Amino acid sequence: MLVKTEGIVLKNMKYKENDGILTVFARKLGKVSVMARGARSSKSKHLAGAQPLCYSDFVLYKGKSMYTLNHVDPIHNHYKLREDLDSLSAASFFIELVDTVTIEGQSNNRLFNLFEESLGALERKEGELSLHILRFLLQFLKFSGYEPYLKSCNQCGTGSSFRWVLNMEEGGLLCEDCQSEGRGLAKPLSKKGIRLANFLMVIDIEDLKELKVHPKLIMELESVLKQYMMIHLDKTNFKSLDFLSKIRRDY
Ligand SMILES: [Zn+2]
Repeated sequence: MLVKTEGIVLKNMKYKENDGILTVFARKLGKVSVMARGARSSKSKHLAGAQPLCYSDFVLYKGKSMYTLNHVDPIHNHYKLREDLDSLSAASFFIELVDTVTIEGQSNNRLFNLFEESLGALERKEGELSLHILRFLLQFLKFSGYEPYLKSCNQCGTGSSFRWVLNMEEGGLLCEDCQSEGRGLAKPLSKKGIRLANFLMVIDIEDLKELKVHPKLIMELESVLKQYMMIHLDKTNFKSLDFLSKIRRDY
């Protein structure tokens, strides 16, 4: 059976001489492994569309155990991402995250669109890189079912508190009164940090170009979200995120 779908290549692993096994986040199929015969050969007509980060139109053949590549046409190769280390590291981080939550047979249109538009914006170098990463992170959490609730106290429902903390396990805010009850692992989050997070969770990518935010606030949100992700995605390290923090410290 042949299936036609758009997809973004997450990985292209060498298999035998010129074959590759692609990991593709496909719009219709979720994450799938695809056997791509000859796709790593320089003469292959499939070479361009099978590169990691490439957004392509795929025709796949569904075999017993896995898909086989029948045809691929690049729609957008995101080639320029490879020319800039910061953008490439951010894109690798996005790949790492998408790879963590996607599974075969479960399509996720909103996540697919977020992924594709974010790669495009990184490539065009529009706006502040850190804000792109934060926006991706927050919307990624939302679209994959891990959205932190940041509107009011998760326990008593109040919308006003002098200080807030984010309860990591429950994924919600706790007001001053409720945090004193010692409810598990929590991290302080400033009101400005909460406002920024709620804003980035809904903002269109086009509107990010003009946004200016104090670096301290970005770092605060970044550190809280990093811990939040580690708990909810059950992942202890994000290689590309650590690398990004390092290059930013060197500025
Ligand atoms: Zn409360």
